[in-house]
Amino acid sequence: MKFSKYNLVFPAKGNCKYYLFNTLTHSIYYLDKELALAIMNNQLGAITPNIIKEFKENGIIIKDSANEAKILGYFYQKQKKQFDKTQFMISLTYGCNLGCDYCFEKDLEPLPMTRIDFSKVLNFVKKRILFHKNKKVEIHLFGGEPFLYPELAKEFIEKVNRFCNKHNKKFSFLVYTNGTCINKKALDWLKKASKKHILKYAQVTLDGPKLLHDARRHHKNNTGTFDKIIDTLIIFRKNNIKAVARINIDAKNWKSIPKLMNHLILKKLGSMPIGFGIIREMTEGCKNNKNVIKQKDLPRILKFLYKQAISKKLKLEIDPRFGYLYCSAFAESTYVVDPQGKLYKCAGLQGRKENQFGAGIFPSGSGGYSGRA
Ligand code: SF4
Repeated sequence: MKFSKYNLVFPAKGNCKYYLFNTLTHSIYYLDKELALAIMNNQLGAITPNIIKEFKENGIIIKDSANEAKILGYFYQKQKKQFDKTQFMISLTYGCNLGCDYCFEKDLEPLPMTRIDFSKVLNFVKKRILFHKNKKVEIHLFGGEPFLYPELAKEFIEKVNRFCNKHNKKFSFLVYTNGTCINKKALDWLKKASKKHILKYAQVTLDGPKLLHDARRHHKNNTGTFDKIIDTLIIFRKNNIKAVARINIDAKNWKSIPKLMNHLILKKLGSMPIGFGIIREMTEGCKNNKNVIKQKDLPRILKFLYKQAISKKLKLEIDPRFGYLYCSAFAESTYVVDPQGKLYKCAGLQGRKENQFGAGIFPSGSGGYSGRA
């Protein structure tokens, strides 16, 4: 017998207890110091038979012959092939009414999908839904700014929803918007979709308190967007449209985020979940940002922000990664489709030829994409 190499033991705050977490089996224990030290010092002999039995059942103690890397590989492959949903991130346009400093889509063709391409994308989505056979289907409307073309967005969602109903699939969608150009019709649509529980949430981004935010996230003529976005969030709240504020954090703005939190509370937006978008060197797009957070600084910064949010009784939209995939891009049943029908695995990589996979949905002269992700 031996201890799993995926055991993590760390002290609980304020007493002599410890947490044990196994990152392979996801077992969690709350331990006395004596037992925690036995694990940390690799002393199997100090553990009673009852506890050994319990630990063996939960992967804390394993057979000498066990190959945990192989087990991890198995779970990874399994989740990659059997992701619990079929997910499409659809960018109907790369166009946007804003001109954010850090936008990685600035240089891309801003026009929306043509009607012909729209139908082809819809067909592609339907085919892949049937191909993957998952019970759940999720559409993420992305951009550019999807509300530049609200009719197109609405039509797309309604058609996929109808298809899912017909084929007994559970449908939901999310929309990523800058929150500055949602007209009355689009608002009514979101309201209805929320009521029907098919809109999971609308995500709106904030880059810090007003001054900092407006300096980065502004219109093309440099006028700020902070007040408009806060107004949109208030309208969402009043209309029971579930919204999540993604607060971008980087090396320059993180200390000022508590000020933004206070402002949200002041505007009665304290019940809206917030999530942190960490600006780090993940993709080429992020690398253009001078203020990326270094990996070594991240735990300290996140701890500070989580503590602040909890002390202010704000809701956190946390995405614990208990799965075996780093993110949904690694699953076979997830697709990012851009306005030209090009396919990618990650929205942060779209628009660049080297990141495409397959021939795209409507390569000229061909019958379209038919391979596996
Ligand atoms: S709102 Fe989004 S798409 Fe529009 S300019 Fe800003 S980062 Fe780019």
